[in-house]
Amino acid sequence: MAGKDYYEILGVSKGADADEIKSAYRRLAKKYHPDLNKTPEAAEKFKEINEAYEVLGDEKKRANYDQFGSADGPQFQGGASGFGDFFEGAGGFGGFSDIFSDIFSAFGGAGGARGSRVQQRGDDINIAMRLSFDEAIFGVEKQISFNRVETCQKCGGTGAKNGKEFSTCPDCKGVGRVRIQQNTMFGTTIRETVCPKCGGSGKIIKERCEECGGKGCKRVPAQVRVKVPAGIDNGQTIRMRGEGNGPAGQGIAGDLNIKVTVAQHPIFKRVGTDLLFDLYVPFTTCLLGGKVDIPLTKGIKTIDLEPGTLNGTVMRVKGKGVKVLNRDAYGDILVTIKTEIPRNLARKGKDLLRQLDDKFDEDDFPKTKEFNSRIKNL
Ligand SMILES: [Zn+2]
Ligand SMILES: [Zn+2]
Repeated sequence: MAGKDYYEILGVSKGADADEIKSAYRRLAKKYHPDLNKTPEAAEKFKEINEAYEVLGDEKKRANYDQFGSADGPQFQGGASGFGDFFEGAGGFGGFSDIFSDIFSAFGGAGGARGSRVQQRGDDINIAMRLSFDEAIFGVEKQISFNRVETCQKCGGTGAKNGKEFSTCPDCKGVGRVRIQQNTMFGTTIRETVCPKCGGSGKIIKERCEECGGKGCKRVPAQVRVKVPAGIDNGQTIRMRGEGNGPAGQGIAGDLNIKVTVAQHPIFKRVGTDLLFDLYVPFTTCLLGGKVDIPLTKGIKTIDLEPGTLNGTVMRVKGKGVKVLNRDAYGDILVTIKTEIPRNLARKGKDLLRQLDDKFDEDDFPKTKEFNSRIKNL
C-alpha cells in the first residue's frame, strides 16, 4: 500500500474536499468498471481507484493516510479500544457502497450492496379508519389498536439471550461487511457487500433470546393516539412516522399510514372545503321573499330570501364550510334554491291563482315577452 499516491490515482489535489473526491471517484469508476470498459488495463485501474477511494472517501482513514501514509494509522493496531473506532469508521463503507449501488443501478447491472442490517427500516403498516362527518370536519383524537413488530425488550433487539450471548462474527471481524473478489475474464474486481454470515450486525448469536427466538423483534399489540386534523377528507391518509413495524435489528421503524373513510352527511355534499345542498322553498316565499332556515355545520342560520328569488339561485354563506387542512381558513356553504310548487291545488287555491293571473299583463314577464317576440320573427 505504501508508496501509492491515492490523490494522484483519483486525479485530485491534496486539498480536495469530500465532494470533489466523491465525484472524481464516480467518474473514474464508471470509466474503468470492467463491465463497461473492456480494455486489458481497466480491471487493474478499477481496483486501484476503489482502493484509493476507500481511503480518501473516509474522513478518518484519509486523515491517517495524510499523517502516516497509511489508512490504518497507529490507533487501529491492537488494543481493544480500537474496536469502537473501527466500527464507527465502518460507517464510511456505507457511503462507498451507496455510490457503488448507484453505479450498478445506473447501468442496469446487479449487485450493489444493499439491505445492510446495520441501518434497516421496518415495514409500513396500512390501516383504515372510519370517521363520522363531524369528526372529519372538526377533527378528533382517536385511540387505535393494531399489531406491529417491535424491538424485543428482553434482548434489546440483539436476538441474543439477555442481550449479550453473542460473539464477534469470524467472517467480517465485527465490521458487518466483507469484500468479495470476483474473477471475470476481464480481470479481478472487488465488491463490498453485507456480510452473509452475520447479516451485517457483525455479531453471531451464541444463545438465542427465549422471548423472540433470536429475531430481535416481536409482534405485539400496539395502541396509538391519532390526532385527526380538522378538515380531513374521504380517501386521505394520515402518515405517522415511525409508528409502523420496527426493524429486525438496529434501525428505524416504518410508518403507520391511516387511510380515512368519511361517512356521508344527511344534507351536505362536500366538495373540497365547500358544503353544498339544495334548499326547497315554497314558490310563494320565492315570490314574496321571506325568511328561510339553513343548516350550518353547527346549528342553524336564518337568512332573508329576496322577493322574486328564482329557482336555481345559488346563495353563498362565506366561511361556514369546512376548515382548510393545516390553515386557519374555511370554505363556504353553497345553497341552491329549489322552488317548490304544490302538486295538487285545491279548487280554492286554483280560483285564487286565476284571479292573480288576471292581474298580470305581459309586461310583468319581460323575459317571456322577449322570447315570444323572437319566435314570431323567425
Ligand atoms: Zn429477544
Ligand atoms: Zn459478519
